[in-house]
Amino acid sequence: MSFRVGSGHDSHRLAEGLPLILGGIKIPHTKGLVGHSDADAVLHAITDALLGAVGLGDIGDAYPDTDPRYKGANSRLFLTETVAKLNQLGWYVVNMDVTIFAQEPKLGPVKLAIRDSLASLLGVPTDRVNVKAKTGEKVGHIGRGEAIATHAVVLVSKLIGFEV
Ligand code: MG
Repeated sequence: MSFRVGSGHDSHRLAEGLPLILGGIKIPHTKGLVGHSDADAVLHAITDALLGAVGLGDIGDAYPDTDPRYKGANSRLFLTETVAKLNQLGWYVVNMDVTIFAQEPKLGPVKLAIRDSLASLLGVPTDRVNVKAKTGEKVGHIGRGEAIATHAVVLVSKLIGFEV
């Protein structure tokens, strides 16, 4: 068995009146994240971690924000396509751990729903997925509620001798 680890980071600005989408689901809040796509910072960090694990660059290479096809795109597409790409190369997700840095809204009540959504998108059982939430301790752009940031780590494995 061969193993690779990847890490991903993302952040997006919050603005009034937009839907807040994290981990592929809509979270009740008065503000949402601004971006070229649906700005799902959780899925973007995980996609980057997966690409990083297998040496395929980053989400900006795979899904450029200058490409009109991705304007308003559902970021679930980025993640599921990336998982499929890794699977084609013989790599499978062992586990994924993501931390969400958000002063607001409180994510405790939705962490398990985000976890379920991520497990489904990654095609793994929920016990291979973990979601952690932290505030910004009211300091800096996160703590002032101006942005949400994320950090993801993923481990992937491949059976040596069964490369496709
Ligand atoms: Mg992003």
